Amino acid sequence: MAENNVPVVVRMPPSPTGHLHLGTARTALFNWLFAKKYGGQIVFRWEDTDKERSKTEHETEILEGLKWLGMDFEKESSLMVRQTESLGKHTEVLQDLWERGKVFPCFTTPAELEALRDEANQKKEGFVFWSPFRDEERSELETKMKSGKPFAWRLKVPTNETVAYSDEIRGETKVNTATLGDFVVARSDGSVLYMLANVIDDHEQGITHVIRGEDHISNTPKQLLCWRALDVDPPIYAHIPLVLIRKNENFQKDE
Ligand code: GLU
Repeated sequence: MAENNVPVVVRMPPSPTGHLHLGTARTALFNWLFAKKYGGQIVFRWEDTDKERSKTEHETEILEGLKWLGMDFEKESSLMVRQTESLGKHTEVLQDLWERGKVFPCFTTPAELEALRDEANQKKEGFVFWSPFRDEERSELETKMKSGKPFAWRLKVPTNETVAYSDEIRGETKVNTATLGDFVVARSDGSVLYMLANVIDDHEQGITHVIRGEDHISNTPKQLLCWRALDVDPPIYAHIPLVLIRKNENFQKDE
């Protein structure tokens, strides 16, 4: 990694949907220090695609808070961007993935999904969804799309394959795709959701190291499948343990 003179590009991609929290500050610090140590670059990206919840006042508070902690991202980032500036690129990539058969429109309705989930719950089985549309002819899917039937874009996930990667902190990590199912990557209007949008942007912005909280670890196998679908090598992943705060009442119970 960085020790081999490979240029380092890290990223800080907060969603401006709330106050600056401790986890964000801590993730920022790891990225900041890592970039400083290896003379790397920092990309600061507002993941602001949730139009309802993203607020400029949260942006100001987050940047000010990080600055107060000694990290002036406005000054030190090589790139300050908004995810909403890349919506055109996202749609273009989605279209390319469709052309190459990596994604497909799925017409299973939320009510049908709910029924399948209930069925799995009753049998005390984990719910994994394999779309009945994943192997349908392209021409048939196109006809359904034209008919105006609601759908969501899903990644065509291999049914039984091991996705393995070496996390810089957790070490060798493996997940079988049989536990993932075909997951949603975009809405029918072409707006790409977090799982894939985050990967497209990381790729476009030349990110070499993804350093983020462990709460994202379950996203990583899915994102590695997105990288594979894009036909690009993924960055190095490092998931840092979360800060856990013991609540007062539990503290007393335990004593
Ligand atoms: N916007 C995401 C968050 O704030 C970024 C997650 C990531 O680092 O990939 O949780």
